[in-house]
Amino acid sequence: MLTNMINLPNFKILDMKESADDYRFLVESTTLPPSHCLKCGTVANLYKHGKKQQLFFDLPMHAKRVGIYVNRQRYKCRECNETFFENLPDMDVNRSVTNRLINWIQEASLEKTFTSVAEEIGVDEKTVRNIFNDYVAELEAQTDFRTPKWLGIDEVHLLKNYRCVITDVENKSVIDILRKRNKDVVISYLSRLQDIDKIELVAMDMWNPYKSAVKLVIPHAKIVIDKFHVVKLANEALEKIRKANRQNVSAKERRQLMRDRYVLLTRRKDLNDFDNQIKLQIWTDMFPLLGQAYELKEQFFDIYEAESINEAYKLYQNWFSNVPKELMAYFEGLIKAMNNWEEEIFNYFNSPITNAYTESLNRLIKTMNHIGRGYSFETLRAKILFTQGYRKLKKKKKFKEVEVTFGKMLPDHFPNWEQTGYEWVYEEIYGADFSTLTKSMEEGTF
Ligand SMILES: [Zn+2]
Repeated sequence: MLTNMINLPNFKILDMKESADDYRFLVESTTLPPSHCLKCGTVANLYKHGKKQQLFFDLPMHAKRVGIYVNRQRYKCRECNETFFENLPDMDVNRSVTNRLINWIQEASLEKTFTSVAEEIGVDEKTVRNIFNDYVAELEAQTDFRTPKWLGIDEVHLLKNYRCVITDVENKSVIDILRKRNKDVVISYLSRLQDIDKIELVAMDMWNPYKSAVKLVIPHAKIVIDKFHVVKLANEALEKIRKANRQNVSAKERRQLMRDRYVLLTRRKDLNDFDNQIKLQIWTDMFPLLGQAYELKEQFFDIYEAESINEAYKLYQNWFSNVPKELMAYFEGLIKAMNNWEEEIFNYFNSPITNAYTESLNRLIKTMNHIGRGYSFETLRAKILFTQGYRKLKKKKKFKEVEVTFGKMLPDHFPNWEQTGYEWVYEEIYGADFSTLTKSMEEGTF
């Protein structure tokens, strides 16, 4: 009767205590004594050598925490004089929890914070964290994300720190999130990638540590700075000029200038509304320098309409010569970037790849920062990378060549492979799909 209560048939329950929040069981093992010494292997030369009470935590029951005290038998060997404890096949003796609790903690720590999981079952937070970290290491070993042809390296501000998001630009998916964005971290990540020669292009932010890491580990890959990171600087220059002009106007005009800032940041061709065209006219008449800066911003964007890299270079040189002295300081950030990252920025005109997921990524990070309080960085990372439902997969077929190469050993060693009839099918994992992730966050199921 009591044995049924904990549902562990290898134990006999000797006693049970119940309090408001806890069950405490006292049990002993019912399995047969060991047939040989666990230290030297000698058969049938053991004797009992005292018992020790050890506490193991188990799954919560009836909303109470469950602790199981095991009167654990110790044996001594007459041959080698060593002592050892009896085996407890249902228990993880290093972590002092039942094996089934390990599985429960693995799932629960993806859903709740470590502290609340620990509280719910009675173990300390460190135990939950350790079990979770082991679990992630296991998942990582099992998962083989496909190395992308176009690798993306983006920085985000997540849980109070800058992190580095690694993406598959072509497939719009996340393949990793690195705790830090410094050079060593990126180098060590890139060095662990398989098939590194498959990477043709790397799209990145203008951040020197990324560039040095890529040049060192994948020197054959071409670095491309995304258009959006560059034109953003033109808009920033314009914003600086708008702000500088705030001092010269009345409070009312200042508010109006704030409200109309979007007009300045919009491309002229997108200003369809007549009202907005008038607004732009008023501000640029009132502040001629702001008008000139607007024109320069527009011209800069136009560089990206170029149809060849040579045309782009010409357009940029022309643009640069049009920047008047008075505006130089405002456009300094942009001009510096164009000098420091010239090659990578102009690579775009030969390989116009772009992070079409930037907006999804930003939304994703915003939501994670919102729900992420109390979660560790590792948890959020694992939730994204290892939740099956978020993955982008493609089934690939291979025929005879694979059979000849690998023979029958395949399924065990390559968990993603299966044989259907005469063909081998395997799944390629492209990381976590951006649109699936954002959808899940919007629906509140993340
Ligand atoms: Zn022995």
